[in-house]
Amino acid sequence: MRDSKGRDINYLRLSVTDRCNIRCIYCMPESGIPLVSHDDILSVDETIRLCGIIMKAADITKVRITGGEPLVRKGVLDIVGGISDLNPCELVLTTNGLLLRSMAKQLADAGIERVNISLDSLKDDRISRISRRDVSLHDIEEAVAAAFDAGLGPVKVNCVVMRDINDDEIGDFIRWSGETGVTVRFIEHMPSRLPEDTFVSRDEIIERASARGEIVRQIDDGTAGIYSFGNNGQTFGIIAPFSDPMCNSCSRIRLSALGTLHSCLAKEEGISLKELLRNDAGDEIISDMVRRAVINKPDSHGGCVQAKMWKIGG
Ligand code: SAM
Ligand code: SF4
Repeated sequence: MRDSKGRDINYLRLSVTDRCNIRCIYCMPESGIPLVSHDDILSVDETIRLCGIIMKAADITKVRITGGEPLVRKGVLDIVGGISDLNPCELVLTTNGLLLRSMAKQLADAGIERVNISLDSLKDDRISRISRRDVSLHDIEEAVAAAFDAGLGPVKVNCVVMRDINDDEIGDFIRWSGETGVTVRFIEHMPSRLPEDTFVSRDEIIERASARGEIVRQIDDGTAGIYSFGNNGQTFGIIAPFSDPMCNSCSRIRLSALGTLHSCLAKEEGISLKELLRNDAGDEIISDMVRRAVINKPDSHGGCVQAKMWKIGG
């Protein structure tokens, strides 16, 4: 469906939980996260029903299952299966990978086509420091292998670049992506509890990557700018919400695990479709609200993206 700025909105990011099995320093606080009761989270049936209404109302053609960590959500396979039985659409998932080794095959059987995996360092001690949990590169390499085995490729690996934390690993990530067959995408850090100077810009990322050879910009892939090395054809992506906002071509809306529809990541307030659903509003009323949210999607995030991604759905 087209919004009032003429953008085609056809991509739903669906958060199925606000919980996570790790605590990335740029995403969640270490402790003190208010516990959301199970009743406040959409049930499996409610999630599938709302997803179906949104997809129909806005002509959604792509759904990404996310969170929090989607694979800790009880019933995630039922949600995936239910959505896959709705209108045909591209169905993909973003995960930290920790539960992927045991779930990749079932996810593929349920209808997931591809996965993105998050990984912020290639060094075990740094991975554990960033995730505040005992996680190793081996864990993530096993997740990558399981994803390929289950037919969930091409696999993209997302790395949030942070000054003095992992910004010296850009070249290593590009080398590693060549060895493992994944495509790495570097993400500009969005404001979090970390100091402001944690931010590393797209241009700095390119400068560091160019130590490996001359870089040429290719055609963008959604919100990621794609770059390749002239000398060997290897590519990598950069998601740069600040240096290269791409709001003009944004095609996304988001449904949180609490059942709130957000038309922009920067908008913490949204429309509670859960309230409508639980007050017996019919599909037509909910569809109207969805269309209204799409039409009124903000022009841009205005540079004030607040990274509460685990709540809204990253
Ligand atoms: N738990 C899953 C994962 O980590 O892949 C899915 C949800 S997570 C919120 C989705 C993406 O948001 C991850 O790739 C993560 O790196 C990114 N993210 C979270 N906080 C961020 C921040 N402050 N800046 C940039 N990216 C962030
Ligand atoms: Fe969890 Fe993903 Fe946030 Fe890391 S980025 S804390 S894995 S939700």
